[in-house]
Amino acid sequence: MPALRGRLMPNEPLAPLTWFRVGGPAQVLFLPDDESDLAYFLANLPPEIPVIVIGLGSNLIVRDGGVPGVVIRLGRGFGVVKVEPPVRIRAGAAVPDVKVSRAAQEAAIAGLAFFRGIPGAIGGALRMNGGAYGRETKDVLIEARGVDRQGRVHVFKNADMHFTYRHCGVPDNVIFTQALFQGERGDARAIAAEMEKITESREATQPIKSRTGGSTFKNPPGHKAWQLIDAAGCRGLRIGDAQVSEMHCNFLINLGGATAADIETLGETVRKRVKENSGVELEWEIKRIGVVK
Ligand SMILES: Cc1cc2nc3c(=O)[nH]c(=O)nc-3n(C[C@H](O)[C@H](O)[C@H](O)COP(=O)(O)OP(=O)(O)OC[C@H]3O[C@@H](n4cnc5c(N)ncnc54)[C@H](O)[C@@H]3O)c2cc1C
Repeated sequence: MPALRGRLMPNEPLAPLTWFRVGGPAQVLFLPDDESDLAYFLANLPPEIPVIVIGLGSNLIVRDGGVPGVVIRLGRGFGVVKVEPPVRIRAGAAVPDVKVSRAAQEAAIAGLAFFRGIPGAIGGALRMNGGAYGRETKDVLIEARGVDRQGRVHVFKNADMHFTYRHCGVPDNVIFTQALFQGERGDARAIAAEMEKITESREATQPIKSRTGGSTFKNPPGHKAWQLIDAAGCRGLRIGDAQVSEMHCNFLINLGGATAADIETLGETVRKRVKENSGVELEWEIKRIGVVK
């Protein structure tokens, strides 16, 4: 691929790129320069080579055997956030959600403050339909751009995203590159106060300084996952250095020396105990990628 501008890194460790800090390497890590570089790479990569994209790794377990094929991580070329007056924000997929909320606050655009509490980047927010405090990405997205496995660029209107709770129905092989959001006119000071409240409430209720992946399981219809986990006696449960958080029992944490297998086995143990105790089958919200060692 003579015209490639991004960096290809063989056998690159992924653990440092995730919140859990576990897992093996990528067979190849690719850091595209920009959207056209990404499209060129995908168009020229033999179709049998698997490709997966990661964001800030805040909703991710990378398994201990690493990830075969190519792992793509978007960097600076996808990192621009711009206000489009009066109430829209355009953001690259590598922009941390918090930066979008801050840009909106500074421009007195209300409705995007919920991004303050989600520690991922915009690509992950689009794929996960990230949300908090009664709002989700679906409520504020106008359209997203993405590149498919063949290197074709698409624009997806909100309805084309087929969003449901923590899920986006766009085929898994699409890598989002940009999003356009819409808020409404607001008061910059009131939005700042709302964001401050979000920060305080997070610090009080979630182990945000730990090595974690946030909510492990989706809330089943009519239930709170943490309540089911608590009722099944799993608060504080430990396998190796993987533990169900004492503070918020839908969070798993790596106390330091956990492997991906410890964390995943702990999650599966929790699912089994909840099923036995309440009959409810928990569904993983955290994405697990790669192969077992
Ligand atoms: C302390 C803590 C608190 C959290 N609180 C919340 C919360 O309140 N609400 C909430 O919704 N989530 C929460 N999360 C989970 C997580 O932050 C979100 O799911 C976030 O949107 C993931 O973004 P990311 O960039 O880290 O993606 P990653 O974890 O790297 O990836 C997650 C998924 O998105 C895909 N993906 C990433 N980038 C792209 C892209 N450019 N194009 C296509 N697919 C892509 C990946 O392939 C993977 O399937 C929390 C996590 C932590 C650690």
